[in-house]
Amino acid sequence: MHPLAKLDHAHVWHPFTQMRDWLAREPIVIAEGEGALLRDVHGKEYLDANSSIWTNLHGHDHPRINSAIQRQLKNIAHSSALGLANEPASLLAAKLVAAANPKRVERASPRAGSSGASPHLSKVFFSDDGSTALEVALKLAYEFTRRTRDQSVGRASSRAAQPKFLSLEGAYHGDTIGAVSLGHVDLFHKAYGGLLFKSDKVMSPFCYRCPFNRAKPERDDARNYRKCNWECVGKVEKKFSTQKKRGNPYAAFVFEPLIQGAGGMIPQPAGWLHRVSEIARSHGALLVADEVMTGFGRTGIVAADMRRPISKRKAKLEPSHAGCHHGNLFACQRENVQPDFLCLAKGLTGGYLPMAATLTTRKVFDAFLGGYREFKTFFHGHSYTGNQLGAAAALASLDILQSEKSILARQKLETILREELKSLWQLPNVGDIRQVGLVAGIELVNDWRTRDPFDLRERAGIRVCNEMARRGVLTRPVGNVIVLMPPYCTTPQQVKRIVSVLRTAIEEAFRLK
Ligand code: PMP
Repeated sequence: MHPLAKLDHAHVWHPFTQMRDWLAREPIVIAEGEGALLRDVHGKEYLDANSSIWTNLHGHDHPRINSAIQRQLKNIAHSSALGLANEPASLLAAKLVAAANPKRVERASPRAGSSGASPHLSKVFFSDDGSTALEVALKLAYEFTRRTRDQSVGRASSRAAQPKFLSLEGAYHGDTIGAVSLGHVDLFHKAYGGLLFKSDKVMSPFCYRCPFNRAKPERDDARNYRKCNWECVGKVEKKFSTQKKRGNPYAAFVFEPLIQGAGGMIPQPAGWLHRVSEIARSHGALLVADEVMTGFGRTGIVAADMRRPISKRKAKLEPSHAGCHHGNLFACQRENVQPDFLCLAKGLTGGYLPMAATLTTRKVFDAFLGGYREFKTFFHGHSYTGNQLGAAAALASLDILQSEKSILARQKLETILREELKSLWQLPNVGDIRQVGLVAGIELVNDWRTRDPFDLRERAGIRVCNEMARRGVLTRPVGNVIVLMPPYCTTPQQVKRIVSVLRTAIEEAFRLK
């Protein structure tokens, strides 16, 4: 065993990993990365088919991000945001605000509650990772609601009148206690019930496994052939109106837009997000969009943009006053939804450094303004908030992301992935293939005709991913769903290889040959 592998075995406790299994064999020790490739200490190469757990955007060892970090290093690596400002964080905040407020979304977004105006996300609170981005949104939404809502909603002291949150079945928003409280994945969250505050859940639009979908299984994405009456939207409406009748309307609706990730790669049928956002708004709830996974182009280029020849698209990509193109970087924008809180992490720095941002409105910000002695301050902050190296990487990443070259590459990658995945329908253990932009989930089942799921104890997803790793493609499953989410620089040949390795791995794992 490599000495570094031995050291790892001796001391490192890995996340979301059964350490008994981990200790049973030599781990892959990564030494280098380049583009979509990772290289281990023995020189073996792997394709990074899940972008290093959904973080990497443009590939490893990217010259522009490398040099942005190196340039920043010559000045300073880190100084605190508690009491001090810094250049890259300020520039980044302005760029994020520009990217989060494209004009057409502002016009078309469901109207915000009582104010009637569509939210303008103008304030940025930096933190460290996806979980903290959600914690910030959660605390701000909670306190904003307490400070601003109608006094007739319960008595301030009554526990029953605490601002309540609604999130989706299968929701996963991170592993800190607040984020876990918003989550509804029993396997991850149930054990910690005693530590959590209660949040409500509502049906998520999981067409493939929806009890209201009367369609027999077909060899197609279940969203395309579903037969239903949008009962999932009705459930959301009911949830909001029931809670309103209880005299304590939901303070906020928390969701991942277009596709829920860790909950099982659950894609939303077109129109769902817009409809439920309107319902939430009509009940006065704040919208909290968790774009930790979906942000920064992961869910693809807006269809309307894709249909336009690239030369005509140029006008839309003109830089704004903040030097940021009005591309469509966020999933909410695909459904013309503008949230009150936009939570970003993972791809923010292009997958280089841990950094997160929670964007919100002036209205929320103003609720925390006051004389010092009023103590309305938002008493929250992390040591590395606004870190310069992270911000420098993020600025470079945003520049790359909004370049014509990157937009074209993403468009191509989405198309080739869609094409290649079609071949998997031939496998009887593939029940559903669901792709949203550059994210794909392939659900493994006992038999596609019945949608009969594997018992989690059979480790179907893990077995397939282990077979893939042996063949030089790295990804991790969510339960029985294999996730493909390659970096944007992945070439067509590499996509072909990823999918053909997945196919062989499924055949191998289920002895189909
Ligand atoms: N939200 C979503 C949608 C996520 O996918 C994740 C992480 N997988 C998180 C939040 C938490 O992010 P982090 O692991 O960076 O804390």
